[in-house]
Amino acid sequence: MSVAHISAALNRIQPSATLAMTARVSAMKAQGIDVIGLSSGEPDFDTPDFVKEAAIAAIRSGQTKYTLVDGTVVLKEAIRNKFKRDNGLDYGLDQITVNVGGKHTLFNAIVASVDAGDEVIIPAPYWVSYPDIVAFAGGVPVVIAAGAAQNYKITPEQLDAAITPRTRWLILNSPSNPSGAAYAPDELKALGEVLRRHPHVMLMADDMYEHVWYANFSFATVAQICPDLYDRTLTVNGCSKAYAMTGWRIGYAGGPAWLIKAMGKLQSQSTSNPCSIAQAAATAALGGPQGFLDERNAAFKKRRDMVVAMLNDAPGLVCPLPEGAFYVYPDASGCMGKKTPDGMVIDSDEKLIDYFLDTARVAAVPGAAFGLSPAFRVSYATSDVILKDACIRIQQACAALK
Ligand code: PLP
Repeated sequence: MSVAHISAALNRIQPSATLAMTARVSAMKAQGIDVIGLSSGEPDFDTPDFVKEAAIAAIRSGQTKYTLVDGTVVLKEAIRNKFKRDNGLDYGLDQITVNVGGKHTLFNAIVASVDAGDEVIIPAPYWVSYPDIVAFAGGVPVVIAAGAAQNYKITPEQLDAAITPRTRWLILNSPSNPSGAAYAPDELKALGEVLRRHPHVMLMADDMYEHVWYANFSFATVAQICPDLYDRTLTVNGCSKAYAMTGWRIGYAGGPAWLIKAMGKLQSQSTSNPCSIAQAAATAALGGPQGFLDERNAAFKKRRDMVVAMLNDAPGLVCPLPEGAFYVYPDASGCMGKKTPDGMVIDSDEKLIDYFLDTARVAAVPGAAFGLSPAFRVSYATSDVILKDACIRIQQACAALK
């Protein structure tokens, strides 16, 4: 046996670039190198205590066995209430699925519904895993570029032009990883109008950052804004980002019963149920007090404002002000073609990021991983002091390019 036996489906995908950069940073730190990691996509806050207590209670009360494949009834009820409370959406229990993280939710949905040659529209910059999951399923990612000049958001005209008879899905992630851009209700309405004209297209709303947004913006999701699209929308969410529960691995979705059932069938032959203890924790998180979200957002907003201001002061970078999530995505066109003090020409965002890592000891993720270059992603889910140091290092590294 050899690598020649690796399946064609697996050969169509790449390892996650963000996880690879985070691993590189860990390896450098283990060697004692003073490197600041801005590549990781997780909140630096801790899981709330009341959530941890619910998990401990679940262990003590023996909730340590298999559960229903796609989620316990109590968790599905908590999710149903969450959709009603936060989004004004009514989903029956047979319209709700619970999975091993949001990535698994998206994976199940795509693998359950995409056939060879089916097209999936993905606005760029995109979350790294979308094109790979689509390619794994045999589908064709159709990427729409939305650069800094349009605040990293696609227009209705771009969407209309990308739709073909083979289009199966549009994936819309708002607020976005990696850009932080989020669609306002009227922008969602305008995109919904295009979808209305193409009844064969389904919509995957990735609302993973629903609770991370700032003043002058108000979160909305498509099925709520365009009720007539409810039947063809999968509203995806999870506990990872809002409740600082990345390690617990709970994602979920509400959508048409036929699709939810198909996703459950796939899950029954792969992971079975998500961890029973994590499901108890998620039930507590979704049903418990939500006030801490505002406090955390206030901290994130302060960091966003500082990082955007400092990166805009770095020669060659232009950093739009994002509405939400905990990322910024500076455009690095102004650095391209310049030379480092060692004489290396910066002709790609990958080279720029290597230069930052080698000389400034700051790790970000190159835009190439997100399908829109030259740019890079900075995660500001770390302390104000570390962020300030990192931004000074980036400013100095940019200033040294000639
Ligand atoms: N969707 C987006 C846009 C994300 O940024 C992430 C995580 O980074 C996910 C989905 C997956 O989240 P999870 O960690 O729950 O699998």
